[in-house]
Amino acid sequence: MVKIDQAIAKELVESAEYICAPGKGILAADESTGTIKKRFDAIGVENTLDNRADYRELLFTTKGLGEYISGAILFEETLFQKTSKGEMMVDLLKGQGILPGIKVDKGLVPLPLSDGETATTGLDGLGQRCKEYYAAGARFAKWRAVLQIDAKTHKPSNLSIMETAHGLARYAAICQENKLVPIIEPEILTDGNHDIEYCAEVTEKVLAAVFKACSDHHILLEGALLKPNMVTEGAECKTKSSSEDIAYYTVRTLKRTVPPALVGVTFLSGGQSEEEASVNLNAMNKLFGPTPWKLTFSYGRALQASTQAAWGGKPENVDKAKAVLLARAKANSEAQLGKYAGGVQSAGSLYEKKYVY
Ligand code: 13P
Repeated sequence: MVKIDQAIAKELVESAEYICAPGKGILAADESTGTIKKRFDAIGVENTLDNRADYRELLFTTKGLGEYISGAILFEETLFQKTSKGEMMVDLLKGQGILPGIKVDKGLVPLPLSDGETATTGLDGLGQRCKEYYAAGARFAKWRAVLQIDAKTHKPSNLSIMETAHGLARYAAICQENKLVPIIEPEILTDGNHDIEYCAEVTEKVLAAVFKACSDHHILLEGALLKPNMVTEGAECKTKSSSEDIAYYTVRTLKRTVPPALVGVTFLSGGQSEEEASVNLNAMNKLFGPTPWKLTFSYGRALQASTQAAWGGKPENVDKAKAVLLARAKANSEAQLGKYAGGVQSAGSLYEKKYVY
């Protein structure tokens, strides 16, 4: 068995545990240029380099954010970007005790000879890129694999599950060799009318395959994080589950598949409203904790939707937008501890059909 260098292992474990400290979670601000355009279009902001920098500066200079947020995932542009005052974005984060992270996948392509399923690209040259990201201050990474779910067409196919598991494990090994904690993200989309039990069945199968591949690739689980979907019914399913049911099925699925050595599970929000994402995480920790791994958040849309709406690209709204971000971050911090009472003002459903990040 090949063993990871002990000094690297120590650093990976420390970074992963830092991210999963009590009451802390991740802000996923790694929207690609195309995805942030969709967000900006919705609030009437032009998608320019300067506007993207202004927006991310707003996020990272929110005073007190580091009390609730331990890591922020960045798009490559942001990792090497300066603010209008010439400060590095990563220095703003470090100043708040927030570890910079980096999205390292290069997006999705069609999986050949499949029924419209996808594969994630970005393995070529990844080792070299990881070295540059580490030198720029990144301490963890994210790679998003996407699976479709449909009981009638038997999706995800075995091919899609195999490709997801292999790709994630290969990526995780390259990251760990280069001192970056890998966030392993096999996202099962919510499109469809399937019920919560089918989602539980599929999520169990996918996570079992992912952790088998991680074992085959010698991944140090003590220095890795999982970013799964919560177990929910499909967006078009008529029967809506309670947060207790979502918490029950999600924790049951994780207990059946995720080794206790893993440090943390950092959920994606996947189109849930800001409030749903907080309430569901809270229910898991309150009703089914403590679990062998920390259950926390790594939300993109569910941490930023109201903030973007409050900002609207206007300098005079910056302080208001920061207050909204801080309130949402605090709500999720409380949910990580199972102490969120609910009711913090938030945006409605953030579901988008066939979502691309
Ligand atoms: P959402 O929370 O918006 O699903 O995004 C998180 C993420 O990083 C997806 O890759």
